[in-house]
Amino acid sequence: MSELNVITLALPKGRIFEETLPLIRAASIEVLEDPNTSRKLILPTSRPDVQVVLVRATDVPTYVAQGGADLGVVGLDTLIEHSAESGGMDLYQPVDLKIAKCRLSVAVRADFDYAGVVKQGSRLRVATKYTHAAREFFAAKGVHVDLIKLYGSMELAPLTGLADAIVDLVSTGNTLKANQLVEVEHIMDISSRLVVNPASLKIKRVALQPILQAIRDAVACIYIRYRNHA
Ligand code: AMP
Repeated sequence: MSELNVITLALPKGRIFEETLPLIRAASIEVLEDPNTSRKLILPTSRPDVQVVLVRATDVPTYVAQGGADLGVVGLDTLIEHSAESGGMDLYQPVDLKIAKCRLSVAVRADFDYAGVVKQGSRLRVATKYTHAAREFFAAKGVHVDLIKLYGSMELAPLTGLADAIVDLVSTGNTLKANQLVEVEHIMDISSRLVVNPASLKIKRVALQPILQAIRDAVACIYIRYRNHA
């Protein structure tokens, strides 16, 4: 099948991958290999015209924006950082999939007087992977920060004296608790978004529209079921 007739969906392994499966199933797309056991990076699906490529979560926006994939699923946290660097005009974002939900928060050591530092207007050393979201949040609050870019294990930074605070994703709060950190600010709620390459949307509209609609309907259906059971 020619490249023009194939739809490529970029997914990161892990929670987003698992939670995307039931949504694409609504468009009759079943991934035929398990990324946990296969070493393949391009996975076939039950539809000959759809393939899945496995990429790092932070690379999903780049793959989709630059045409390496037509569609992708990415957390709002990653999307915000990508948009700040790219200007934000390179991706169409048609659906909030309401999956991989968590929150972006500020956390400090339990013995750190965050409120006092903020009140006094002192500088705060903040370690995070999410430098754009953090910079915007503290600027809006009028807090002066020195941002320290990290790529993982953010929780370690306040424990070793590298930083006073971290900005990180929190789901259950167990990781913070295990490291004697406390959440002091809730910056925003996070969920994963379906993103689409704008050129693909034009060129492959006939093939893409039914897939987008099936996913939209599946999200709405799951959300209504969830609300009725809540
Ligand atoms: P938890 O202990 O459940 O609060 O999870 C916190 C840890 O999991 C932190 O290291 C976060 O960076 C990571 N985490 C939580 N939710 C997500 C998510 N939706 N996507 C990626 N990482 C997450």
